[in-house]
Amino acid sequence: MKPSSDASLDALIGKMRSAASPLRERLMDIHSRIKSNADGKLACYIPELSRVDPNLFGVSIVSVDGRSIDVGDADAPFTIQSVSKPFVFGLGLEDHGRDYVLSKIGVQPVGEAFNTVVLDEVSNRPYNPMINAGAIASADLIQGSNYAERVSRMLDMFRRYFGHPVHIDSSVYASERTTGHRNRAIAHLMLNFGMIEPRIEETLDLYFQQCSILATSHDLAVMGATLANRGVNPITGERAIDACYVKDLLSVMYNCGMYDFAGEWGYRIGIPAKSGVGGGIVAVVPGKIGIGTFSPKLDPKGNSVRGIQFFNELIKHYSLNVFDRDEDQCLILEHFSK
Ligand code: GLU
Repeated sequence: MKPSSDASLDALIGKMRSAASPLRERLMDIHSRIKSNADGKLACYIPELSRVDPNLFGVSIVSVDGRSIDVGDADAPFTIQSVSKPFVFGLGLEDHGRDYVLSKIGVQPVGEAFNTVVLDEVSNRPYNPMINAGAIASADLIQGSNYAERVSRMLDMFRRYFGHPVHIDSSVYASERTTGHRNRAIAHLMLNFGMIEPRIEETLDLYFQQCSILATSHDLAVMGATLANRGVNPITGERAIDACYVKDLLSVMYNCGMYDFAGEWGYRIGIPAKSGVGGGIVAVVPGKIGIGTFSPKLDPKGNSVRGIQFFNELIKHYSLNVFDRDEDQCLILEHFSK
C-alpha cells in the first residue's frame, strides 16, 4: 500500500515499530497518558533546578543484551544528584573491601529526610549511603594520591556505567558548592566524631561534583542495565564494577533508595531503585533490564511524580518484583521485539 501523505506514512511507521516491539508500544501509551500530569514542584534549593523545563518527560529501558527503547525526552540532560550515591558507594567497596566500608557506613534505613544531620552515634557511622551523610562518607572513601586523581577516578567510574565520558553542569556544581551549608555541617559533624578524614572540603567538592553530573534517562537505563548485568555495561561490554559488589548496591537501593518512600516502593514496585532531586530515577530488574526515567516535578518526598506514576503503570503489565519468581508474568525481555 502506498502511503498518501506524510501523516499516513508516520502512522505506518508507527504501526511497524509497534508490531516489532510490544514493549515500545506499551511505553508510548503509558508515556502519553502520564505526560498530562502536571502535579508536583520543581526542586528549588538552588536557582538552576527551579529553571528546568517542567514539561520534560523521558523514559528508557535497556536490556542486559544491549537493546534499548527510548520514549519522549530521553535525550534531555539533567543533573543526576542523589542517583549518583549507590555508584560512589560501589567505588568505595572496590577501593576498600566490604568489611572496611561497613565499618564506616551503615546499611540501615532511617526514617529521616535525606539531608538529616542525625548520625548513628552507637556504631559511629552515618546510617546508610543513600542519605547525604552516608554519601559524603562514601565520597571520602574514593582513593587517589591527590584531589585531581580522586575526581578523575570518580568520573571514570561513571564513564564506565554511562558508556561515554561524563560532563558536569558547572553552574549547578558552583551553586551546590556555594549554598551547601547543610552538607558542610553534616561533614563537620562527621569529622567531629572521627567518621571521615579531615580533608572535608575536598570530599565535599567530590560530592558536589557527583551530584552535578549530567545524564539523560537513556544514560540512567544503561547504568541500571549494567547493574542488572552483574556489573558489565551491556552496550560497551566494559566492566563498571566488580560483580561481587553489585548485590551490595542493589540491597541499599532496595532498602533506602527512594527517600522516605523506600518502604512503600519496595512493597509496591519491588525492585532496587534510586531517585534524585533533579527528577531522575534509575531502577534495576536483576538479570533483565535497567530503567531510567526523567521528569523534574517532585512529590513532597522528593521523588519524580511522573516517574513514580510510570512505574505504577508499568507493573500493571509486567510483574517486575524481585520476589515474584513467576517468569510467565514478566515477559518484558520477550516484549522488546518479536
Ligand atoms: N545535591 C543535593 C544535596 O546534596 C542532592 C539531593 C538529592 O538528590 O537527594 O542536597
